[in-house]
Amino acid sequence: MVLSRRAFSLGLASVLAGCSKGGLTQIATRSSLDPAFLPQSNASYDAWVAEFKNRARARGITDTTLRAAFRGQGFLPGVIDRDQNQTEFKRTLEDYLAIVAPEEKIAIGTEAYASERKSLAQVEAKYGVQPEVMAAIWGLESYFGTKRGSIPVVSATSTLAWEGRRRAFFESNLMNALRIVQSGDARPSQLVGSWAGAMGHTQLIPDAYQTHAVDFDGDGKRDIWSNDPIDAFATTARFLSKAGWRKGQPWGLEVTLPAGFDAPIGRKTRRSTDAWRALGVRAAAASSLPSSSSAAILAPMGVGKPAFLVYHNFNMILRYNPSENYGLGVGYLAHRLSGGGPIKGKFGRDKNGLTLEDRKTLQRALTRSGFDAGTPDGVVGRKTEAAIRAYQAVAGFTVTGTPSPELLASLTG
Ligand code: CA
Repeated sequence: MVLSRRAFSLGLASVLAGCSKGGLTQIATRSSLDPAFLPQSNASYDAWVAEFKNRARARGITDTTLRAAFRGQGFLPGVIDRDQNQTEFKRTLEDYLAIVAPEEKIAIGTEAYASERKSLAQVEAKYGVQPEVMAAIWGLESYFGTKRGSIPVVSATSTLAWEGRRRAFFESNLMNALRIVQSGDARPSQLVGSWAGAMGHTQLIPDAYQTHAVDFDGDGKRDIWSNDPIDAFATTARFLSKAGWRKGQPWGLEVTLPAGFDAPIGRKTRRSTDAWRALGVRAAAASSLPSSSSAAILAPMGVGKPAFLVYHNFNMILRYNPSENYGLGVGYLAHRLSGGGPIKGKFGRDKNGLTLEDRKTLQRALTRSGFDAGTPDGVVGRKTEAAIRAYQAVAGFTVTGTPSPELLASLTG
């Protein structure tokens, strides 16, 4: 069995592709989808589906299920594009945190967390995962339930299986999507989610659903699709518990490293907190380092920029999504939802010589000058790059799409 639940995340994939509307938005209806997410004719895909259906029948899927599950489904070119342009693993930690945990999202999340506190406490009592960690996962996966995805799962998984880059993985998920329909767990119309087939509040793929889903509220359904997130919380908490989550133990915390720190770091270099303390590692906030026999230092952007001490439970979060940025995003958002403050360390200037504030100023100046740079979040994505290119062409710069101090000066001087 594949340990990590999946390597995709609706929230991140859509935000990073520049398709997010931002803020607390309603779930998109099918009619509002990009045409690339509507079925298009593709003879090779159709032939593959016909062959796949034969294998599904051989494994006990009925014709009734196949008809119901494939009705209106088809080849979606948009999911291929997303699959080939995953930027989740390429973003710097600073960009990543600006995307997944901006201040306005923390404010919305604080309210959402408060409204689900009782459910999260019940789930914690059974599975031992702290409420703020579950709430943070909820925040990263579906923007606290508000962005659960509207792409048909059978179309998405069949398109990606046909494409073939990870055929076995997506065939397995397609087969499990059919089993979900056949068992009556969900109606075919409920099977919508991310471009990679992840569904519901905590974005579970069909394989993970079949293995882990629980009916926590006892209504007879393992329902990760309804507006009430409790079954989704319990399912994800159960996943983490089975992966090896240690009850009551922290994921990690931000730390400071002493001047001249040059000890080996990274997830594979594990030492006791006493050993790290002896090397000068301190908690960035006032509290002391929680004691552990095994912890690792992560400084994704290099020593001198924000650094973290991560414990066993951090690795359990990575079972849910194997990106270190994801793990730190969950940890940081959990810290903020439980009342902690912003990152203490300084990210400083990026490779182009600009700070986060510089990049926000640049975006605002571009938009004010008639070159729409999108939300001024300090993250230079496709939209900002296009605005820079358009401005560079008009202003007589070499067209690179890359921000620079000179460009900023010319727009704001
Ligand atoms: Ca239920």
